[in-house]
Amino acid sequence: MKYDYLIVGSGLFGSVFAHEAVKRGKKCLVIEKRNHIGGNIFCEKLEGITVHKYGAHIFHTSNETVWNYVTSLVRFNNFINSPIANYKGEIYNLPFNMNTFSKMWNISEPSEAEKIISEQRSEISGEPQNLEQQAISLVGREIYTKLIKGYTEKQWGRDCTELPAFIIKRLPVRYTYNNNYFNDRYQGIPEQGYTALAEKLLEGCDIKFGCDFFDDREGYSALADKIVYTGMIDAYFGYKFGKLSYRSLRFESEILDNPNYQGVAVVNYTEREIPYTRVIEHKHFEFGTQPKTVITKEYPTDWHDGMEPYYPVNDTANNSLYEKYAALAQNEKNVLFGGRLAQYKYYDMDKTVEAALALVKDELGSND
Ligand code: FAD
Ligand code: UDP
Repeated sequence: MKYDYLIVGSGLFGSVFAHEAVKRGKKCLVIEKRNHIGGNIFCEKLEGITVHKYGAHIFHTSNETVWNYVTSLVRFNNFINSPIANYKGEIYNLPFNMNTFSKMWNISEPSEAEKIISEQRSEISGEPQNLEQQAISLVGREIYTKLIKGYTEKQWGRDCTELPAFIIKRLPVRYTYNNNYFNDRYQGIPEQGYTALAEKLLEGCDIKFGCDFFDDREGYSALADKIVYTGMIDAYFGYKFGKLSYRSLRFESEILDNPNYQGVAVVNYTEREIPYTRVIEHKHFEFGTQPKTVITKEYPTDWHDGMEPYYPVNDTANNSLYEKYAALAQNEKNVLFGGRLAQYKYYDMDKTVEAALALVKDELGSND
């Protein structure tokens, strides 16, 4: 059978595209090299608990169209992410807010926190040139030292002076007592887990698991008029300009005979000496009351061939290498590139959905 679209990758990007194409009467074949759908948002049940297999995933967005889109497919709960930081046994609320400042300096009023931070940030003058300078200018040296430096160097495997400033700008800094990790208008987690969302999106498509596009590039390409490619862009072009860099992760999960291990879904371990960055207790994402619990430790690692490329390293050198591949992609006939890997972008899920819907509009027009 000849398909309208071959979709390489069943992650969120490919699944949204597939859903919209099927809605418009197109025939889609999805090929996926893993043995399940959903890419990094995949969840599976363990001890009756929905386990986020590839790390904590909290959906948050200020885009009403995106929120209406996902909530029209599956029901979301009202989870609000309020992680805790553990620095050598000292516990702080995240993101950086009055609860953090109060614990750090034994103060209670916003003006006191502003005074301390403004004194500490005075060591930085001019526009911050790297993550360390950006962090100190946002929250001062003490919070940088206890809650940012160690975590960030574990996460990215580099010194904070060698990392781009934008990474830390993702985190809110607030002079109010508000532990919501995100500023977005909408937030939650699918009640049945993200796999249910991916299943819904992929209804009506043919799916083949354990298929790597590069195992039979010509054969797969001949099956459809067009390709939507969501894998690594440098791999698509045979790494002809060189390899893009990524960070990878190793997850270690345990089932514990304990109904409540850490009292919160996410604890960040911010000291350098502990090799993992965070511990996830999955049941708290869905307010679970099971007698056991499942926890996962997240260890950042260097990336090399054969490992999952979780995070693009968007520094200047990698971004300009990506631009060279993106220019080739523009001229690739009948192939559309999208998603975290093909666009080499640090996309959250809402941005992934937004980007996929934008591609749908260009390619297939509106469905109204
Ligand atoms: P992917 O999920 O990577 O999907 C790509 C798919 O293509 C994969 O299934 C892969 O196996 C397949 N594939 C690749 N190459 C080939 C090939 N050659 N042949 C066949 N198949 C192939 N976002 C949030 O909004 N909130 C969060 O809390 C959040 N937490 C995150 C935590 C972690 C640890 C990570 C890594 C990401 C997090 N994200 C979060 C981001 C979110 O995971 C992404 O936005 C989203 O999953 C991207 O979807 P995608 O389809 O672009 O990529
Ligand atoms: N970060 C930190 N301490 C923390 C949490 C985050 O220093 O306790 C920094 C770290 O550099 C991280 C960045 O803030 O890469 C963005 O954090 P976020 O939680 O958004 O990262 P994600 O895992 O979603 O990429």
